[in-house]
Amino acid sequence: MTEFVTRFAPSPTGLLHLGHAFSALTAYNAAREAGGRFLLRIEDIDRTRCKPEFENAIYEDLAWLGLEWETPVRRQSDHFDDYAATLAQLQEKGLVYRCFKTRKEILDEIARAPHLSPEGPEGPQYKGAPLPEEEEQDRLEQGEAFAWRLDMERAINAAQESSGALTVTLCNDGGEISETTATPEIFGDVIVARKDNGTSYHLASVHDDALQGVTHVIRGEDLCSAAHLHRLLQVLLGYPAPIYHHHPLLTDESGRRLAKRDKAATIRALRERGATPSDVISMLKLAPR
Ligand code: GLU
Repeated sequence: MTEFVTRFAPSPTGLLHLGHAFSALTAYNAAREAGGRFLLRIEDIDRTRCKPEFENAIYEDLAWLGLEWETPVRRQSDHFDDYAATLAQLQEKGLVYRCFKTRKEILDEIARAPHLSPEGPEGPQYKGAPLPEEEEQDRLEQGEAFAWRLDMERAINAAQESSGALTVTLCNDGGEISETTATPEIFGDVIVARKDNGTSYHLASVHDDALQGVTHVIRGEDLCSAAHLHRLLQVLLGYPAPIYHHHPLLTDESGRRLAKRDKAATIRALRERGATPSDVISMLKLAPR
């Protein structure tokens, strides 16, 4: 049997809610059914939004729900050097460029020529270009902050040259496997290293999935389109291709997707109101969609 490794990778920016519990349990149960491994990973590269108290609450709430995971848990903020080395691979291939622009400058540019920037999964698709060398040097000397953007067109060409047509392997809720053409171009020249922390969710996540040998990425369907970009990055970085299962997201009574603002739906609030782990688990069985 081939190995089955999956993970739950929350960001400690708030308390876990029912939607997170659903995601964690979906991955956990899949690993158990397959006789595989379940990992927990703390995705805390955003040093302003992530808080240690939320990380502790993740461990506490998941243990209360009855989940077990391997230790030590990988905490991304301990591994910024790994992500810098990953970015260096893209730099060496000439697939990324520095972008000094502010968010406002980008939005103004897009507003002047909106037809060039159709909406992508993370906002308008943006295509930039590296600055002329001298100007770039000046701005570097002045200590100006910059992000690294992926040159999407070059990146796709490079990936196709090495691996042919790019595809994503998907697994649906019923366990059926299918292949779909990857369309990373919908992200435009996506930021792969942010000004503030030198990496991005996309880069850190594909790096860690490869490092940890994740064979099945199980997560909410809000990250469906991210899989297309992740496949591109995996090909460029020489990482294996996991199978992606994007599960439905839980919604409240009015059909709105649960979010960190829904305090009443946090595992903590449910516990405080006297719910038991099995109450929560049965709420999840009733609730999907
Ligand atoms: N850290 C991401 C989140 O909390 C999940 C990323 C993933 O599962 O790939 O939304």
